[in-house]
Amino acid sequence: MALSHLARSIHESPTLALNEKALRLRERGEAVINLGIGEPKNKTPIGAVQAAAAKLSDGDIKYTPADGLLSLKKAVIRYTEDHYQRLVAPENVIICPGAKMALFDLLYTILNPQDEVILLAPYWVTYPEIVRMLYGQPVVVTPEDGTFHPRLEDIEEATGTYTKAIIVNSPNNPSGVVYDDGFMSELVAFCERKDLFLILDDIYHKLVFDGRTPPNALRFSKRDLDDGKIIVINGISKSYGMTGFRIGWAVAGRAVIEVMTNVQAQTTSCPSALLQAAAEGALTGIQSVTESLRMSMQNNRDIALRELAALPGVRTVRPGGTFYCLPDFRAYRGDSLELSHFLLETALVVTVPGMEFGMEGHLRLSYAGTPKDVSEGIARIRWALDPNAPDEIYIGDRKKVRDWA
Ligand code: PMP
Repeated sequence: MALSHLARSIHESPTLALNEKALRLRERGEAVINLGIGEPKNKTPIGAVQAAAAKLSDGDIKYTPADGLLSLKKAVIRYTEDHYQRLVAPENVIICPGAKMALFDLLYTILNPQDEVILLAPYWVTYPEIVRMLYGQPVVVTPEDGTFHPRLEDIEEATGTYTKAIIVNSPNNPSGVVYDDGFMSELVAFCERKDLFLILDDIYHKLVFDGRTPPNALRFSKRDLDDGKIIVINGISKSYGMTGFRIGWAVAGRAVIEVMTNVQAQTTSCPSALLQAAAEGALTGIQSVTESLRMSMQNNRDIALRELAALPGVRTVRPGGTFYCLPDFRAYRGDSLELSHFLLETALVVTVPGMEFGMEGHLRLSYAGTPKDVSEGIARIRWALDPNAPDEIYIGDRKKVRDWA
């Protein structure tokens, strides 16, 4: 079939195949534990439910301006003032159908064919795919020392005449690592010196642990937002556990937002009026939702680290935020896709292969589920891999005996 070469080159995520396999197992009644999930399990915040219900009963759900409702923009402006200490104008904000779409609109807005975008491994799977969809070139910078923390000198070395932008995601999906302030301030100065766009994907910034304040790299720039090239991407998916509502936003200079608005107007017209109302309800409602989510993720992080420490040879960098960690399983198996399939088949645990994030030999484990899922899931992995672990385990109500390790 004569389909687009470019579209066909967009990778199918290996995770889809794993999820399908997990679904089939679950349909057969198997006790699958999902450590692959990318969303918290909370109920929708009441403020969002009430705002959406009010909007629905109003019956007035029509197109909104392409860049979003002014009232939601005002809530984002307040959010930006609270968390970034920057007073921005409505012209600096665009509301999008999810942070992912904000990123797509943004990269469409700034990239010319062949432009390079620097990605810091481990990186979110979507970044290289969007860059390639827009005829750009992803350039991956990988930290060599296993810390998952990038070094400025490596970024400098990867920067060339085609470099257009750098994407930073801290707290990081998949490692949970939060980049330190020294690095971020140097990176801001570097991007300003080189006139590069610096894209801050802050979708996890409120889910930070151990008393840290949410990162705010914008404070390292003295420039007015309209004169600079820093863009902040955020949304309600993670901090408010509202993944299904599909609302995100970008805060940037007016010139960038203006073009992004045209892109969005000609593709999706506008984000849904109903879901924008819900997002506004979340942002203006009781904020303890985020704090309780953050605390339960921190508790789950501690459980995950404790369980992983009992697995000989597995090294885990301590996550400072998110609900993921990225342990190194190379002591057991170098091929992460193969290992993910093996763990699903034997231990009925879903994991995400590190090769998806540019970190072969690692697995991304999500601790967004219940504490029991986290501890039992990792205990099953230990049973499947560690020859010194007891060779019997109960999975669901069935006793299984390890006869391979
Ligand atoms: N950035 C990162 C790093 C993410 O992990 C995700 C969600 N998995 C997003 C952006 C997209 O968020 P949204 O649901 O708002 O599109």
